[in-house]
This record gives sequence, structure tokens and C-alpha cells, in this order.
Amino acid sequence: MSNGFLPRSKRNRLIGKLYNEGYSQVELAEWFKLSRQRIGQIVHFKRHNARGYIDSLMRSGKMPPARDLKCKDCGKPADYYDHYLGYEFENRGKVEPVCKECDGIRYSERGEVRKGENHWAAKLTKTDVIEMRKLRHDLGKKIRFKELGEMFGITESAAHNAIKGIIWNHIPNYLN
Ligand SMILES: [Zn+2]
Repeated sequence: MSNGFLPRSKRNRLIGKLYNEGYSQVELAEWFKLSRQRIGQIVHFKRHNARGYIDSLMRSGKMPPARDLKCKDCGKPADYYDHYLGYEFENRGKVEPVCKECDGIRYSERGEVRKGENHWAAKLTKTDVIEMRKLRHDLGKKIRFKELGEMFGITESAAHNAIKGIIWNHIPNYLN
């Protein structure tokens, strides 16, 4: 099991630093000749590792799939496990099953808490939001919310909400 091995390389630390300074994942992917997905894993390494940990527990049968459980918040069938304490290594196993809708609500509440936060382990940064909105603006329906979510490591509904300004509405939407 990886324990945050990603940022230990010099290159990955540099990528994280540049991302923190406001360079976009698209720019970094071009400069470092890496896929955007790989850049996403590097800049969000804590999240990547925490999710990988839960995936491995599900694969080995030590945890039931989230879909077999009920949403902690509303009792409907769950869709995901939420790392409700964040992605720090010591909290990597602290998850609750939630449905898509409740995950969106939790996410949006956290987005409010994280207003202005400039930390590269945060779920989504201001730069991500601007970049995501620009990609959607430039490519239109050629790029789906699901793909954008995968690219930035968030759910489809979170991508939709960020792009439409339902969350992160404190960032002016220059494109609309
Ligand atoms: Zn729910």
C-alpha cells in the first residue's frame, strides 16, 4: 500500500509547488509531458492514496461495496464512500457511505468552508474551478461532466455544480 510515495520524488514535489502557485493542471501536463490524469494524481496525491486504500479494501473483500450500504445522511442506497475527515494518511480509513445527492451537499458545504484555501491537497482549488469552466466553455458538450470529474478527481455532480456555479459561486464565472 502506498503511503504518500508520490510527492517524495523531486519532480512531483516541484509539480505540487507549481500547482500551489497557481499553474493549471493542463499547463503542468504539457511542461512535464505527463497525462492530465497523472498530474491530477500527483497534485491530489493524498486524495488519490486515500481512495486507493478504500478501493483495495473493497477489492479484497474487507469492506462491502458502498452500493451495498445505505447513505449515512438520508438512508437511500449509497453510491460512494466519503472521506469525511479529509485525506490525511491517518484518516484514510475513515469513511461513510453516502448517496450522490448527499455527497454533493457535503461537498458543497466543504467548498464553503474551504473558500480561498490554497492548499494542493484540498479537494478542488480555485485554479481547478477556473480551468474546469474554461475546458467546458472551450469544448462544450464534447467534454462531459463525468470526464471533467474524473480529470479533477471529483464526482460528476460536483463537476456539474462547480461549472454551473452552484458551488464555488464566490469565484466569478468569467466565461458566462
Ligand atoms: Zn443520501
